[in-house]
Amino acid sequence: MRNKKSHCNGTVLHEQRTKIDPQTQCPPPLKLDEPQRPINQAAMEEHLVRYNFTTLEYRDLDRNLTETYAFGGNDAYGYDGLRIYRYVLIDELVAALKAKNVPVQYGKRFSHVVKDTPENGVTFAFADGTTESTTILVGADGIHSTVRRYLYPDLETKFIGMAGITATVSREQLKLPPNYHIPVTITSSQGAFGIAPQQVDGSEVLIGKQQRVAAPDQPGWDREFVADKQGAIEFLQSDTGHFPDFVQNAVSYIDPNKVNKWPFFVVPKLEKWASENTPAHAIPPSAGQGINQAFEDVYILALLLGQANRVSSLRDALSFWQTYRQDRVDKILELNKQIDIRRMPSSDNVVGVDSGVVRGDFDLRWLYNPDFKKIVNDWVSEHEK
Ligand SMILES: Cc1cc2nc3c(=O)[nH]c(=O)nc-3n(C[C@H](O)[C@H](O)[C@H](O)COP(=O)(O)OP(=O)(O)OC[C@H]3O[C@@H](n4cnc5c(N)ncnc54)[C@H](O)[C@@H]3O)c2cc1C
Repeated sequence: MRNKKSHCNGTVLHEQRTKIDPQTQCPPPLKLDEPQRPINQAAMEEHLVRYNFTTLEYRDLDRNLTETYAFGGNDAYGYDGLRIYRYVLIDELVAALKAKNVPVQYGKRFSHVVKDTPENGVTFAFADGTTESTTILVGADGIHSTVRRYLYPDLETKFIGMAGITATVSREQLKLPPNYHIPVTITSSQGAFGIAPQQVDGSEVLIGKQQRVAAPDQPGWDREFVADKQGAIEFLQSDTGHFPDFVQNAVSYIDPNKVNKWPFFVVPKLEKWASENTPAHAIPPSAGQGINQAFEDVYILALLLGQANRVSSLRDALSFWQTYRQDRVDKILELNKQIDIRRMPSSDNVVGVDSGVVRGDFDLRWLYNPDFKKIVNDWVSEHEK
């Protein structure tokens, strides 16, 4: 949660958690699939423990290459894609904040907005009873955002009937054929199996499949679902007979502590992302784009706010931010469909052969190529006071 304080002209981050030893959390790795200029400076530091790559290959059961999907790429876009554990990235970002003297206050759980007026800004309260006043309150508090509740008290996230089931195993366990490229998605009419290297030397791989899940009509079902690690192992080990041997090797031993279940929830499309003073934004469902889109949200907002004194209306600037970002989010929802077509069984009701969803080629220039600074500067120039 970010708070741009009026009285010290600075930004303060409030985080509900106290600092926790990341090693105890087994955080899933993140794919940063995009030449993200905002994170580039932090993420490309030499010491950062990440795995760089540029392409994911789609292969059929006979190992034929059927398609190639670019994840950034230094030659085409100036930056490679990377896979990185989230705690590594978070530590790096916190260090970058420290270097810029932006304080992070841990153990501060946002509770509610007390007052919000165009003239005096926003006053908000924490769960410990303290309050703060600021010009702009940014809710970067995740998919179940409490800040968003100020704008949409009754909004519920929606489960889309699908989950990503993944596990981490050693690359050695797979006994991959020599020169077999990973990351790879091996497609079949019964669904796809994905393998992606991680750690700086690629010694570890993430393996995974997508699962259709019917949500029971009972609150908290998703917590139980996520906690059922044995169910995840059984799903990963089921229906692998038609895949190459190395897939069966991959699932032959799975440590329950290295399993992740990710039920896909979405935030319904929001009419507005900001009040006069209190922005809130939607988080798209992601097939590897979640964190990139979070960065884009915040980067473009920062570019606009950095020039707020030049524009005639902050409200118009926030509308532009929402419209521009929503347009990209909508395109990502379409891209997700294209990925799901390749991952799900051909009998799938939502994206399968009888669903009406048409399979298209990947053209990712719109995703990787935009010049955010120019886009924002052009808008600001057209809307100068
Ligand atoms: C299993 C799994 C795998 C994923 N894999 C990928 C991937 O490979 N690639 C990818 O791009 N994305 C992936 N994602 C999605 C990605 O994690 C999210 O898109 C991203 O974390 C969103 O960032 P955020 O900052 O909006 O929210 P979060 O990362 O959820 O951060 C929100 C922060 O706000 C804090 N907070 C919450 N409530 C309050 C409050 N009331 N007061 C103060 N602080 C509060 C939380 O403690 C947290 O630190 C994955 C998600 C899951 C669950």
